[in-house]
Amino acid sequence: MAEATPLFDTYARAPLRFERGEGVWLIAEDGTRYLDFAAGVAVNSLGHAHPHLVSALKDQAEKVWHLSNLYEVPGQEKLAARMTAVTFADKVFFTNSGAEALECAIKTARRYHFAKGQPEKFHIITFEGAFHGRTLATIAAGGQAKYLEGFGPKAPGFYQVPFEDIAALKEAISEETAAILIEPIQGEGGIRVASKEFLQELRALCDEYGLLLIFDEVQCGIGRTGKLFAYEATGITPDIMAVAKGIGGGFPLGACLATQEAAAGMVAGTHGSTYGGNPLAMAVGNAVLDVVLEEGFLEHVRDVALVFRQGLASLQDRFPDVIEEVRGEGLMLGIKAKVPSGDLLKAIRAEKLLAVPAGENVIRLLPPLITTSAEAREGLARIERAAEQLTSIKHKASA
Ligand SMILES: *Cc1c(COP(=O)(O)O)cnc(C)c1O
Repeated sequence: MAEATPLFDTYARAPLRFERGEGVWLIAEDGTRYLDFAAGVAVNSLGHAHPHLVSALKDQAEKVWHLSNLYEVPGQEKLAARMTAVTFADKVFFTNSGAEALECAIKTARRYHFAKGQPEKFHIITFEGAFHGRTLATIAAGGQAKYLEGFGPKAPGFYQVPFEDIAALKEAISEETAAILIEPIQGEGGIRVASKEFLQELRALCDEYGLLLIFDEVQCGIGRTGKLFAYEATGITPDIMAVAKGIGGGFPLGACLATQEAAAGMVAGTHGSTYGGNPLAMAVGNAVLDVVLEEGFLEHVRDVALVFRQGLASLQDRFPDVIEEVRGEGLMLGIKAKVPSGDLLKAIRAEKLLAVPAGENVIRLLPPLITTSAEAREGLARIERAAEQLTSIKHKASA
């Protein structure tokens, strides 16, 4: 695998080559079938080759691929109307990725204060363990040294405090603070769920100090937690929200949602994107919503999530040397490993199950939302075999 490649060497890729997908399955070039509980890192929300998405994309491909935002794009208006109808938001800006959705969120928050005659308010408070993307602004927001190193001075205006630390947060709020930015459930950080109480405190502080509350639901949004958006379980609403990943089901699509008031500074000419809201992306985004908003769909997510929770809890009981803790909400699950998480990931992959690494020695299970209870049990059986393997290795080593 250390062979020379014409690609940038930015990824440590697993030596797997997939040719096609069917629902929750990925099929390698040699025909091996893998149960895909990585789902392109929470992107393939409806699995692979979902017939409704395939036909929506094909139909649009035969009409028009790209228009630019010089003209009205009916698919954008339709998708934005549907997203605002089911959320706190009044306005939507479409992007191609999560990082761009965050860039728009950050710019929207800064412009809000600028438009109110307070341009000095441009600082954004974020939380340790956060991940908001890989652009220069979003690595500053994420604050992780490993992503910032070597890329020149960190973009100004981002301050980080420990996760769930209200005292440190209050300390960090100043005359220059514009907004607080948080993932309701940290993904890359290790499936760390922010408590409802903490998020409610953030809302109260934002109201008290005239700050905007920004939720990054790029990973936890679009049904992943069993609610359409994670904020729905908190009893509060943000002012701005970044969405991506699951909304495109595999087509590059993101969105920045905001209340009318929060978006007030984003007037003509302040922001733009060549591809954002492209007709192909809109066709797929609308098709994803057709399925996710269908009656009973989110209930199905919650039912299957329960199968996972119970199965993982029993594996934790049986393999305490391998599994330390099970975390998460809905189908955004984390297994905190007692062994190096890379070993657990490899053992699981040897059982032909795909998962995703994360911080805090956690591996993430992000199964497609269409996963059935039977498929969940199949995945659990594979994790069980992987845990048995690791346990026997451990016992041999200590014997
Ligand atoms: C993946 C992710 C991003 C970045 O999205 P990209 O599409 O890779 O730019 C931002 N925030 C969170 C929470 C994510 O999981």
